Amino acid sequence: MRQPLVIANWKMHGKRAFNQALVEAFLGLLEEHRAECVLCPPFAYLGQLAELLRSSDVMLGGQDCSHIAEGAYTGEVSAEMLDDCGCQWVIVGHSERRQYHQESDALVAAKLSMAQRAGLTPVLCVGETQEQRETGEAQDVVKAQLLGALGDLPDLQGLAIAYEPVWAIGTGLTASPEQAQDMHAFIRDVVTGLDATHASGLRLLYGGSVKAGNAAELFAQADIDGALVGGASLDAEAFAAIVCAA
Ligand code: 13P
Repeated sequence: MRQPLVIANWKMHGKRAFNQALVEAFLGLLEEHRAECVLCPPFAYLGQLAELLRSSDVMLGGQDCSHIAEGAYTGEVSAEMLDDCGCQWVIVGHSERRQYHQESDALVAAKLSMAQRAGLTPVLCVGETQEQRETGEAQDVVKAQLLGALGDLPDLQGLAIAYEPVWAIGTGLTASPEQAQDMHAFIRDVVTGLDATHASGLRLLYGGSVKAGNAAELFAQADIDGALVGGASLDAEAFAAIVCAA
């Protein structure tokens, strides 16, 4: 009932020649797939990727957007600009934004609402740190992030959520399928409390060291509807295998 969704987060990686080779190789390797697929390159390369993806069913997304619509905000990129560049998606509240740019839940909520106003589908990222998991706070942290970002939305249509445990990002440590499923089921419970009508249709992605070798067992879990992929999305073969496994 929920179509799988696999999103590439290139983070701050790429160069025009590398991007072209990667996207062409990836599209060439992509076989019949059930999953929707989105590539999120750095802002600087959105135009280039829009061209490269023109005749494919792979969509384009931004890695972040501003919480403000327009104005004297040097360095910011608005959700409307992303839409104008051909994006249909945008990642908001990634742990790297929360950690290095001090993004609060309130700021993430404002970005989410800007994204929806611009007609983009936001992917809200949540997840606990290693220390929070060790002290038994993982669920409380994730619940606070969900309520902080989603509490004011009228409903939960037009949105996806990515659970990315901070300790599994870029570390090679993946949450076990059971750990990930437990948290995904918990997230679905929390969102059911916010919007019982749409919670069952909401896509929940797992992120954190997803690779070709562990994707299938993660996707086999009842509440894991896809993945948000960092490192492995920079490898055409690995990323095509992940998309096809979904
Ligand atoms: P890795 O797949 O490199 O662990 O990154 C996950 C991530 O942060 C995707 O947003």
